[in-house]
Amino acid sequence: MIQLYIPLNFLGVLYREIKQSLTDLDKMFTLMEREREVADKPGALPLSGLEQPTVRFEHVRFGYEPSREILHDVSFEIPAGKTVAVVGPSGSGKSTLARLLFRFYDLQQGRISIAGQDIREVTQASVRQAIGIVPQDTVLFNDTVEYNIAYGRPGATRAEVEAAARAARIHDFIESTPKGYQTMVGERGLKLSGGEKQRVAIARTLLKNPPILIFDEATSALDSANERAIQAELKSAARYKTALVIAHRLSTVVDAHEILVMEAGRIIERGTHPQLLAQGGRYAAMWALQRQHRDQPQAEPSGE
Ligand code: ATP
Repeated sequence: MIQLYIPLNFLGVLYREIKQSLTDLDKMFTLMEREREVADKPGALPLSGLEQPTVRFEHVRFGYEPSREILHDVSFEIPAGKTVAVVGPSGSGKSTLARLLFRFYDLQQGRISIAGQDIREVTQASVRQAIGIVPQDTVLFNDTVEYNIAYGRPGATRAEVEAAARAARIHDFIESTPKGYQTMVGERGLKLSGGEKQRVAIARTLLKNPPILIFDEATSALDSANERAIQAELKSAARYKTALVIAHRLSTVVDAHEILVMEAGRIIERGTHPQLLAQGGRYAAMWALQRQHRDQPQAEPSGE
Protein backbone atom coordinates (compact mmCIF):
# COMPACT_ATOMS: atom_id res chain seq x y z
CA MET A 1 0.00 0.00 0.00
CA ILE A 2 2.72 2.35 1.02
CA GLN A 3 4.64 1.65 -2.17
CA LEU A 4 1.53 2.39 -4.16
CA TYR A 5 0.75 5.49 -2.13
CA ILE A 6 4.05 7.22 -2.84
CA PRO A 7 3.90 7.18 -6.65
CA LEU A 8 0.22 8.15 -6.54
CA ASN A 9 1.01 11.01 -4.25
CA PHE A 10 3.84 12.00 -6.55
CA LEU A 11 1.48 11.83 -9.50
CA GLY A 12 -0.91 14.09 -7.62
CA VAL A 13 1.82 16.69 -7.19
CA LEU A 14 2.84 16.30 -10.81
CA TYR A 15 -0.77 16.72 -11.91
CA ARG A 16 -1.01 19.86 -9.83
CA GLU A 17 2.18 21.24 -11.34
CA ILE A 18 0.98 20.55 -14.88
CA LYS A 19 -2.45 21.97 -14.13
CA GLN A 20 -0.86 25.08 -12.64
CA SER A 21 1.39 25.52 -15.69
CA LEU A 22 -1.58 25.09 -17.95
CA THR A 23 -3.47 27.77 -16.06
CA ASP A 24 -0.48 30.07 -16.37
CA LEU A 25 0.01 29.19 -20.04
CA ASP A 26 -3.63 29.77 -20.72
CA LYS A 27 -3.37 33.15 -19.06
CA MET A 28 -0.22 33.95 -20.99
CA PHE A 29 -1.84 33.14 -24.32
CA THR A 30 -4.93 35.16 -23.44
CA LEU A 31 -2.70 38.07 -22.55
CA MET A 32 -0.61 37.61 -25.69
CA GLU A 33 -3.76 37.69 -27.78
CA ARG A 34 -4.65 40.97 -26.17
CA GLU A 35 -1.09 42.31 -26.34
CA ARG A 36 -1.45 42.10 -30.09
CA GLU A 37 -4.56 44.22 -29.97
CA VAL A 38 -3.08 46.82 -27.65
CA ALA A 39 0.58 47.54 -28.15
CA ASP A 40 2.74 50.17 -26.46
CA LYS A 41 3.56 53.14 -28.63
CA PRO A 42 7.26 53.36 -29.45
CA GLY A 43 8.96 55.25 -26.65
CA ALA A 44 5.89 55.12 -24.36
CA LEU A 45 6.68 56.18 -20.79
CA PRO A 46 5.15 54.79 -17.61
CA LEU A 47 2.15 56.50 -15.99
CA SER A 48 3.10 59.28 -13.59
CA GLY A 49 1.28 61.49 -11.11
CA LEU A 50 -0.34 58.53 -9.39
CA GLU A 51 -0.68 60.44 -6.11
CA GLN A 52 -3.75 62.04 -7.73
CA PRO A 53 -5.06 59.33 -10.05
CA THR A 54 -8.23 60.94 -11.40
CA VAL A 55 -9.84 58.64 -13.98
CA ARG A 56 -11.68 60.20 -16.89
CA PHE A 57 -13.77 58.67 -19.69
CA GLU A 58 -14.42 61.23 -22.44
CA HIS A 59 -16.91 60.51 -25.22
CA VAL A 60 -15.96 56.84 -25.25
CA ARG A 61 -17.34 54.73 -28.08
CA PHE A 62 -16.45 51.08 -28.28
CA GLY A 63 -17.55 47.77 -29.78
CA TYR A 64 -15.87 44.35 -29.53
CA GLU A 65 -16.63 44.07 -33.23
CA PRO A 66 -16.55 47.25 -35.32
CA SER A 67 -20.03 46.52 -36.68
CA ARG A 68 -21.68 46.45 -33.23
CA GLU A 69 -21.10 49.45 -31.00
CA ILE A 70 -21.55 48.54 -27.31
CA LEU A 71 -20.73 51.84 -25.59
CA HIS A 72 -22.19 55.00 -27.08
CA ASP A 73 -20.57 58.29 -26.09
CA VAL A 74 -19.86 57.52 -22.43
CA SER A 75 -18.31 60.29 -20.32
CA PHE A 76 -17.66 60.39 -16.58
CA GLU A 77 -14.97 61.20 -14.08
CA ILE A 78 -13.78 59.47 -10.91
CA PRO A 79 -12.00 62.17 -8.91
CA ALA A 80 -8.87 60.92 -7.14
CA GLY A 81 -9.78 59.04 -3.96
CA LYS A 82 -13.52 58.82 -4.76
CA THR A 83 -15.80 55.92 -5.65
CA VAL A 84 -18.04 55.91 -8.70
CA ALA A 85 -20.58 53.10 -8.93
CA VAL A 86 -22.18 51.72 -12.07
CA VAL A 87 -25.55 49.98 -12.05
CA GLY A 88 -27.82 48.73 -14.79
CA PRO A 89 -29.25 45.60 -16.36
CA SER A 90 -27.17 42.68 -17.54
CA GLY A 91 -25.47 43.42 -20.85
CA SER A 92 -25.70 47.21 -20.48
CA GLY A 93 -21.89 47.55 -20.70
CA LYS A 94 -20.77 47.82 -17.06
CA SER A 95 -17.94 45.26 -17.23
CA THR A 96 -16.85 46.67 -20.58
CA LEU A 97 -16.01 49.94 -18.80
CA ALA A 98 -13.73 48.00 -16.44
CA ARG A 99 -12.04 46.11 -19.30
CA LEU A 100 -11.36 49.35 -21.15
CA LEU A 101 -9.89 51.05 -18.09
CA PHE A 102 -7.54 48.08 -17.66
CA ARG A 103 -6.76 48.50 -21.38
CA PHE A 104 -7.67 45.04 -22.51
CA TYR A 105 -8.92 46.76 -25.64
CA ASP A 106 -8.37 50.10 -27.31
CA LEU A 107 -11.16 52.52 -28.08
CA GLN A 108 -12.65 53.25 -31.45
CA GLN A 109 -13.38 56.83 -30.40
CA GLY A 110 -12.89 59.02 -27.36
CA ARG A 111 -10.31 58.97 -24.61
CA ILE A 112 -9.66 57.35 -21.25
CA SER A 113 -7.11 59.04 -19.03
CA ILE A 114 -5.51 58.43 -15.66
CA ALA A 115 -3.98 61.46 -13.93
CA GLY A 116 -4.40 63.37 -17.19
CA GLN A 117 -2.53 60.87 -19.36
CA ASP A 118 -4.25 59.02 -22.20
CA ILE A 119 -3.83 55.32 -21.34
CA ARG A 120 -2.87 54.64 -24.99
CA GLU A 121 0.13 56.94 -24.65
CA VAL A 122 1.75 55.27 -21.63
CA THR A 123 3.03 51.73 -21.07
CA GLN A 124 0.40 49.09 -20.64
CA ALA A 125 2.40 47.51 -17.80
CA SER A 126 2.27 50.73 -15.79
CA VAL A 127 -1.51 51.03 -16.29
CA ARG A 128 -2.03 47.47 -15.04
CA GLN A 129 0.34 48.01 -12.15
CA ALA A 130 -1.72 51.01 -11.05
CA ILE A 131 -5.03 49.10 -11.03
CA GLY A 132 -6.26 46.30 -8.78
CA ILE A 133 -9.23 44.27 -9.95
CA VAL A 134 -11.52 42.29 -7.71
CA PRO A 135 -13.45 40.32 -10.32
CA GLN A 136 -16.93 38.90 -10.09
CA ASP A 137 -15.73 35.33 -10.19
CA THR A 138 -12.27 34.95 -8.79
CA VAL A 139 -10.31 32.06 -10.20
CA LEU A 140 -7.95 30.71 -7.57
CA PHE A 141 -4.73 28.89 -8.36
CA ASN A 142 -4.47 25.25 -7.36
CA ASP A 143 -2.07 26.20 -4.62
CA THR A 144 -2.02 27.30 -0.99
CA VAL A 145 -4.11 30.14 0.41
CA GLU A 146 -0.84 31.93 1.13
CA TYR A 147 0.30 31.66 -2.49
CA ASN A 148 -3.07 32.89 -3.71
CA ILE A 149 -2.93 36.02 -1.56
CA ALA A 150 0.80 36.68 -2.00
CA TYR A 151 0.27 36.62 -5.78
CA GLY A 152 -0.83 40.26 -5.34
CA ARG A 153 2.73 41.21 -4.46
CA PRO A 154 5.35 38.56 -5.17
CA GLY A 155 7.91 38.55 -2.37
CA ALA A 156 5.45 39.68 0.32
CA THR A 157 6.24 38.38 3.79
CA ARG A 158 3.94 36.09 5.72
CA ALA A 159 3.13 38.96 8.10
CA GLU A 160 2.05 41.13 5.15
CA VAL A 161 -0.10 38.32 3.75
CA GLU A 162 -1.77 37.91 7.14
CA ALA A 163 -2.36 41.64 7.52
CA ALA A 164 -4.09 41.73 4.11
CA ALA A 165 -6.18 38.68 5.03
CA ARG A 166 -7.23 40.33 8.29
CA ALA A 167 -8.25 43.51 6.47
CA ALA A 168 -10.29 41.41 4.02
CA ARG A 169 -11.84 39.54 6.97
CA ILE A 170 -10.74 36.13 5.77
CA HIS A 171 -7.94 35.54 8.31
CA ASP A 172 -10.12 33.86 10.96
CA PHE A 173 -11.61 31.54 8.39
CA ILE A 174 -8.14 30.57 7.10
CA GLU A 175 -6.92 29.93 10.63
CA SER A 176 -9.91 27.68 11.29
CA THR A 177 -8.83 25.26 8.52
CA PRO A 178 -6.50 22.42 9.60
CA LYS A 179 -3.48 23.64 7.64
CA GLY A 180 -4.18 27.36 7.91
CA TYR A 181 -2.34 29.38 5.27
CA GLN A 182 -0.87 26.18 3.82
CA THR A 183 -4.34 24.83 2.96
CA MET A 184 -4.62 23.98 -0.70
CA VAL A 185 -7.48 25.71 -2.49
CA GLY A 186 -8.92 25.58 -5.98
CA GLU A 187 -10.41 22.70 -7.90
CA ARG A 188 -8.16 20.12 -6.24
CA GLY A 189 -8.27 21.58 -2.75
CA LEU A 190 -10.63 23.23 -0.34
CA LYS A 191 -13.68 24.58 -2.09
CA LEU A 192 -14.42 28.13 -1.08
CA SER A 193 -17.78 29.84 -1.39
CA GLY A 194 -18.18 32.76 -3.79
CA GLY A 195 -17.94 35.21 -0.89
CA GLU A 196 -14.79 33.57 0.51
CA LYS A 197 -13.13 33.58 -2.90
CA GLN A 198 -13.97 37.23 -3.31
CA ARG A 199 -12.39 37.94 0.09
CA VAL A 200 -9.20 36.17 -1.02
CA ALA A 201 -9.25 38.41 -4.09
CA ILE A 202 -9.73 41.48 -1.88
CA ALA A 203 -6.77 40.40 0.29
CA ARG A 204 -4.66 39.91 -2.85
CA THR A 205 -5.61 43.39 -4.07
CA LEU A 206 -4.98 45.00 -0.67
CA LEU A 207 -1.51 43.49 -0.74
CA LYS A 208 -0.88 44.87 -4.23
CA ASN A 209 -2.05 48.23 -2.85
CA PRO A 210 -2.77 49.92 -6.18
CA PRO A 211 -4.01 53.52 -6.27
CA ILE A 212 -6.97 52.53 -8.48
CA LEU A 213 -9.46 49.79 -7.71
CA ILE A 214 -12.05 48.06 -9.88
CA PHE A 215 -14.57 46.03 -7.95
CA ASP A 216 -16.98 43.82 -9.86
CA GLU A 217 -19.55 42.73 -7.31
CA ALA A 218 -20.50 39.07 -7.43
CA THR A 219 -23.97 38.50 -8.83
CA SER A 220 -24.43 35.30 -6.86
CA ALA A 221 -26.97 35.46 -4.09
CA LEU A 222 -25.47 36.03 -0.67
CA ASP A 223 -27.25 35.85 2.64
CA SER A 224 -27.61 39.28 4.16
CA ALA A 225 -24.88 38.78 6.80
CA ASN A 226 -22.39 37.83 4.07
CA GLU A 227 -23.57 40.70 1.91
CA ARG A 228 -23.00 43.20 4.71
CA ALA A 229 -19.55 41.71 5.42
CA ILE A 230 -18.44 41.97 1.79
CA GLN A 231 -19.73 45.53 1.60
CA ALA A 232 -17.78 46.47 4.71
CA GLU A 233 -14.63 44.93 3.20
CA LEU A 234 -15.20 46.76 -0.02
CA LYS A 235 -15.55 50.00 1.86
CA SER A 236 -12.29 49.51 3.70
CA ALA A 237 -10.53 48.35 0.50
CA ALA A 238 -11.74 51.41 -1.41
CA ARG A 239 -10.83 53.93 1.29
CA TYR A 240 -8.36 56.49 -0.10
CA LYS A 241 -8.50 54.78 -3.50
CA THR A 242 -9.96 55.87 -6.80
CA ALA A 243 -12.57 53.19 -7.31
CA LEU A 244 -14.93 51.99 -10.01
CA VAL A 245 -17.55 49.71 -8.50
CA ILE A 246 -19.82 47.62 -10.67
CA ALA A 247 -22.74 46.90 -8.42
CA HIS A 248 -25.58 44.43 -8.61
CA ARG A 249 -27.07 45.31 -5.25
CA LEU A 250 -28.04 48.94 -4.82
CA SER A 251 -27.22 48.81 -1.10
CA THR A 252 -23.55 48.72 -2.22
CA VAL A 253 -23.73 52.09 -3.95
CA VAL A 254 -25.52 54.41 -1.53
CA ASP A 255 -22.31 56.11 -0.38
CA ALA A 256 -20.74 56.49 -3.83
CA HIS A 257 -19.55 59.93 -4.92
CA GLU A 258 -21.57 59.41 -8.10
CA ILE A 259 -23.81 56.61 -9.38
CA LEU A 260 -24.08 55.98 -13.11
CA VAL A 261 -27.17 54.17 -14.34
CA MET A 262 -26.43 52.39 -17.60
CA GLU A 263 -28.78 50.99 -20.17
CA ALA A 264 -27.84 49.57 -23.57
CA GLY A 265 -24.38 51.18 -23.51
CA ARG A 266 -25.52 54.65 -22.44
CA ILE A 267 -25.55 56.51 -19.15
CA ILE A 268 -29.22 57.31 -18.73
CA GLU A 269 -29.10 58.79 -15.20
CA ARG A 270 -26.34 60.01 -12.91
CA GLY A 271 -26.04 61.50 -9.47
CA THR A 272 -25.74 60.69 -5.78
CA HIS A 273 -28.15 58.25 -4.17
CA PRO A 274 -30.40 61.00 -2.70
CA GLN A 275 -30.34 62.96 -5.97
CA LEU A 276 -31.37 59.91 -7.98
CA LEU A 277 -34.12 58.99 -5.55
CA ALA A 278 -35.45 62.55 -5.76
CA GLN A 279 -35.46 62.35 -9.58
CA GLY A 280 -37.95 59.52 -9.37
CA GLY A 281 -36.60 57.86 -12.52
CA ARG A 282 -35.09 54.48 -13.33
CA TYR A 283 -32.80 54.33 -10.29
CA ALA A 284 -35.63 55.18 -7.91
CA ALA A 285 -37.72 52.40 -9.47
CA MET A 286 -34.84 49.90 -9.14
CA TRP A 287 -34.36 50.93 -5.50
CA ALA A 288 -38.06 50.48 -4.72
CA LEU A 289 -38.01 47.04 -6.34
CA GLN A 290 -34.95 45.88 -4.39
CA ARG A 291 -36.45 47.20 -1.16
CA GLN A 292 -39.58 45.23 -1.84
CA HIS A 293 -37.57 42.01 -2.28
CA ARG A 294 -35.59 42.77 0.84
CA ASP A 295 -38.71 43.27 2.88
CA GLN A 296 -40.04 39.87 1.82
CA PRO A 297 -37.10 37.59 2.59
CA GLN A 298 -39.34 34.56 3.11
CA ALA A 299 -40.85 34.85 -0.36
CA GLU A 300 -37.99 32.94 -2.00
CA PRO A 301 -35.82 30.09 -0.80
CA SER A 302 -32.43 31.43 0.26
CA GLY A 303 -30.58 28.77 -1.72
CA GLU A 304 -28.50 27.79 1.34
P1 ATP B 1 -23.46 41.79 -16.49
O1 ATP B 1 -24.18 42.60 -15.47
O2 ATP B 1 -24.26 40.61 -16.94
O3 ATP B 1 -22.05 41.43 -16.11
P2 ATP B 1 -22.58 44.02 -18.15
O4 ATP B 1 -23.46 45.20 -18.01
O5 ATP B 1 -21.31 44.02 -17.40
O6 ATP B 1 -23.39 42.69 -17.84
P3 ATP B 1 -20.91 43.67 -20.50
O7 ATP B 1 -20.22 42.41 -20.06
O8 ATP B 1 -20.13 44.92 -20.46
O9 ATP B 1 -22.28 43.84 -19.72
O10 ATP B 1 -21.44 43.41 -21.98
C1 ATP B 1 -21.99 44.43 -22.79
C2 ATP B 1 -22.30 43.85 -24.16
O11 ATP B 1 -21.08 43.47 -24.79
C3 ATP B 1 -23.18 42.62 -24.16
O12 ATP B 1 -24.09 42.75 -25.23
C4 ATP B 1 -22.23 41.48 -24.42
O13 ATP B 1 -22.87 40.47 -25.16
C5 ATP B 1 -21.14 42.14 -25.26
N1 ATP B 1 -19.83 41.51 -25.03
C6 ATP B 1 -19.19 41.37 -23.84
N2 ATP B 1 -17.99 40.78 -23.99
C7 ATP B 1 -17.83 40.53 -25.32
C8 ATP B 1 -16.79 39.97 -26.13
N3 ATP B 1 -15.66 39.54 -25.59
N4 ATP B 1 -17.01 39.88 -27.46
C9 ATP B 1 -18.15 40.33 -28.02
N5 ATP B 1 -19.17 40.89 -27.31
C10 ATP B 1 -19.02 41.00 -25.99
